[in-house]
Amino acid sequence: MGAMDQDILKVLYTEKEIAARVERMGKQMYEDLQDKNPLFVSVLRGAFIFMADIVRACQVKSDVEFIAVSSYGNAMSSSGAVQITRDIQQDISGRNLVVIEDILDSGNTLFFLKQYFMTKGAASVSICTLLDKPSRRAKAITADYTGFVVPDEFVVGYGLDYCQKYRNLPYIGVLKPEVYGG
Ligand code: 5GP
Ligand code: MG
Repeated sequence: MGAMDQDILKVLYTEKEIAARVERMGKQMYEDLQDKNPLFVSVLRGAFIFMADIVRACQVKSDVEFIAVSSYGNAMSSSGAVQITRDIQQDISGRNLVVIEDILDSGNTLFFLKQYFMTKGAASVSICTLLDKPSRRAKAITADYTGFVVPDEFVVGYGLDYCQKYRNLPYIGVLKPEVYGG
């Protein structure tokens, strides 16, 4: 038991369950992407662990890129205004992008990013999200690849944080209310 486990109310997906799901998603994506020379774009920081696993589960010839956005600060719900805090470092015109995200919640982030990448000349932009919380959607956007559909609860672990902590938990869980003063 690590120092963070005592803050967890319940585990939603174990390390093993995540690994099995990511493996299957990668194989499915391979079928679609094998002749597309995709550019995987990870949304920092939450998707960094998922990114590392999904690109190895999808053995397609590809390259990787990173973008950082902020819309939350330390709050637990999206403000709607998305800002790029670190932009991509290459020309994406004509490329088939696959945006790798930790969770699709209100949809504000991915709605913004999809338009942004299309404006920059991407040939296509598909979305791969580990988690989907459809109950909170505010923008008309759906993922092309989804790991798990989650209930309307604030989750941490496997890259997802609360106030920048808990990203390094190997599983995905829900915090005890007292941890965030709820
Ligand atoms: P959206 O723009 O779709 O509302 O939110 C996307 C971002 O909000 C995600 O990339 C993630 O950083 C954050 N987010 C949404 N729901 C959760 C959650 O349950 N837990 C954590 N840790 N972050 C979340
Ligand atoms: Mg995020």
